[in-house]
Amino acid sequence: MHQIIHHGAVDGVTGSCHELRLADGRSVLIDCGLFQGVEAAPEGATFEQLQIDFPIDHVQALVITHVHIDHVGRIPYLLAAGFRGPIYCSEPSAHLLPLVLEDALKVGFTRNRDLIERFLDHITQQLRPVRYGEWVTLLEAAPRCRLKLTPAGHILGSAFVTFAVHTRGRQERLLFSGDLGAPHTALLPAPRSPHRADVVVLESTYGDRLHEGRHERAERLRQAIERAHDNGGTVLIPAFSIGRTQELLYELEEIIYQQGCGRGRGRRRGHRHTATSRHTATGQSSQQGKQGKQGKQGQRSRRGQRWDELTIVIDSPLAARFNRIYQRLRPYWNKEARGRLRRGRHPLSFDQLVTVDDHDTHLRTVDALASSGRPAVVIAASGMCTGGRIVDYLKAMLGDERHHVLFVGHQASGTPGRDIQQYGPNGGHVVLDNVRYDIRAGVETIGGYSAHADRDDLVRFVKRMRHPPREVRLVHGEPGAQAELKAALLQALPAEQILTCHQ
Ligand SMILES: [Zn+2]
Repeated sequence: MHQIIHHGAVDGVTGSCHELRLADGRSVLIDCGLFQGVEAAPEGATFEQLQIDFPIDHVQALVITHVHIDHVGRIPYLLAAGFRGPIYCSEPSAHLLPLVLEDALKVGFTRNRDLIERFLDHITQQLRPVRYGEWVTLLEAAPRCRLKLTPAGHILGSAFVTFAVHTRGRQERLLFSGDLGAPHTALLPAPRSPHRADVVVLESTYGDRLHEGRHERAERLRQAIERAHDNGGTVLIPAFSIGRTQELLYELEEIIYQQGCGRGRGRRRGHRHTATSRHTATGQSSQQGKQGKQGKQGQRSRRGQRWDELTIVIDSPLAARFNRIYQRLRPYWNKEARGRLRRGRHPLSFDQLVTVDDHDTHLRTVDALASSGRPAVVIAASGMCTGGRIVDYLKAMLGDERHHVLFVGHQASGTPGRDIQQYGPNGGHVVLDNVRYDIRAGVETIGGYSAHADRDDLVRFVKRMRHPPREVRLVHGEPGAQAELKAALLQALPAEQILTCHQ
């Protein structure tokens, strides 16, 4: 009989790594992610913790559900431990993975260009892109094992993976959900329940929550930005470079479009960072922009003008590169997003958008926005404020009540993001790089932007299967979320069904 072993993301949300061990001892790994927050050591995950601490000589293949760092970040360690097998992932993930790993290597391993190139060459040779919906044979000899990837609606390329294991004329299906998206994730089609699975390993990040609806979250995003605008401050949005950043841009472009403003509404920005651009990261709108506005002033609402003046800053070279790949992979976007493109709009590359690339411009932008009181929205990584450029903004702006921090993603316990989210609204403090920062800036959380399914979405995912599973294993969630989801699953599924939820 096969076995499922969890090497990470058991009662937390990071370090995803599961092993499907077949009856003959051969096995397949599903994801190989980094630990973050309290699941890592206080100063971040240690080398010892990240090293692969289980035997891998019988591991035949690795399957990647999606390219978030907490699902792929330990691949370099897996290779260092000697893994040379194939790495299966969806076609879009195959485009995104080298970039994610290149960044992970620079942060955690080495800046040596040659070493990085050699590692990426290895990875590229090991990658086996799989088309969504197609069965692929993973292991031919008995027990035969096939796999299929189905869109999970979480980030571009995300998939849940179904294994069909054939033993002595019997077939068993085991499903690993990876991270499942919410139904209204921007750009992506919603995940659909599979026809059947016998065992489901299900994520439970938001197993104890219900998200706001799409309309409410967009409205709250608009209001939060307008409030900050009234104060003449900056809205800081910590976000993963991949997925969340593109989702936010998509929604911001829609708000700007709906406000009926933007001289270049729906138009692609031609030349970023140039002197003639109306929006720059550090300066006021250029003269050209001011003149261009006057002719239309009468027609626009005051609110529209305010949105027209707002600059959206993506302060992340990585996010900018992902943006470009996201745009290349538009055949994988959902219908609505492709419709906007057809109508001449450019949801990920619009007029108000400025990308900050090099480090000097980044530092200048932090200074300029912290002191000028010029309205702007800054989207920067990391999503949980554990490092990256967002930390420089936080250090410069948390003490000033004109600014706002807007959380749109899950903040794992033990991360600075969670501390700001929890203690910020009561005037608390946060420790960043061993220095205490009092929080006077506004702090808000919008739940609806989660790239994760909520409790009801997760229950529906299982319930809508034509042949529901006999066993659901809950992973990738904090204990409270797992307990609530377990109760909801047991209640929703028919009483005659045998359902066990391991916690
Ligand atoms: Zn994820």
